[in-house]
Amino acid sequence: MNKKIEKILYLPNPRGFCAGVERAINIVELSLEKYGPPIYVRHEIVHNPWVVKDLESKGVIFVDELNDVPKDARVIFSAHGVASSVKDEANDKKMPFIDATCPLVLKVHIEAKKHYESGAHIFLIGHKGHPEVDGTMGQIPYDSITLVENTNDIKKIKPEEFDKVALITQTTLSVDDTARLIKNLKEKFPKLIEPPKEDICYATTNRQAAVKSIAKKCDAIYVIGGENSSNSIRLVEVASQSGCENTFLISEIKSINWDQMEDFQSIGLTASASAPEILINEFLDLFKSKFKATIKKNIIADENISFKIPKELRE
Ligand code: SF4
Repeated sequence: MNKKIEKILYLPNPRGFCAGVERAINIVELSLEKYGPPIYVRHEIVHNPWVVKDLESKGVIFVDELNDVPKDARVIFSAHGVASSVKDEANDKKMPFIDATCPLVLKVHIEAKKHYESGAHIFLIGHKGHPEVDGTMGQIPYDSITLVENTNDIKKIKPEEFDKVALITQTTLSVDDTARLIKNLKEKFPKLIEPPKEDICYATTNRQAAVKSIAKKCDAIYVIGGENSSNSIRLVEVASQSGCENTFLISEIKSINWDQMEDFQSIGLTASASAPEILINEFLDLFKSKFKATIKKNIIADENISFKIPKELRE
């Protein structure tokens, strides 16, 4: 029998599902129980192919727009949030809906509206085309908010065009990149009104800090997460920038190149806020079957956060 190659596997914590993702998935599953399939969900409930396939197998139909939902059917809005116009459209159509927007995204929506009502022009740091950004920008008139993606966008802003300015951000950004952009904005606008508490959420911050804590020790890091997931992509960037160039985003365990892994002695494994622990366990089972594994856990924070589900599903 071949002797197994020895490997060290670093498992940082926190990793995997956050409270907002758990709540959103719960909302869909409880809706299936209460109302029966099919249940329509506008956009992927969270950005993870495993979660989406699992819910589809239980009777969920994911749609792009409300026009794709049959009359009288019930629809759920994804964890990323929706523009006010989407809720208005559902109300106009008398379409029953349940809002699975993460409460931490809703907090940013409230900030946007408050700043707008106070007469401030808003800068939103975020990624164009991401559903959360579309939802946040859609809380207020389009000309009262400017999306800032990078330093070039900041260079183009003319300070003399604005009297009062405020800042909000997407919840799933790179903590370090965002801090740099905020610094640049503040150099241009010393009176920039900042969020009372950071908009980047606790889950994003903790997962990035956790992967950073192992990056220098690892020859390779595997980040389990969806290819369209902002959280997942940021984790890969943070791991690479923090000392582990061989960082791979893995959306399906079957896509892992196990032969390539033989070249790496210390390996890191984490999962983004929308990736289920079942995929971590699948990875671990295969890893242990192929290598002699020494597992090292690296816990950098405890998370005890949970969010209430809507009343209609608690009854
Ligand atoms: S990543 Fe943060 S903002 Fe997004 S669903 Fe999770 S807790 Fe909410």
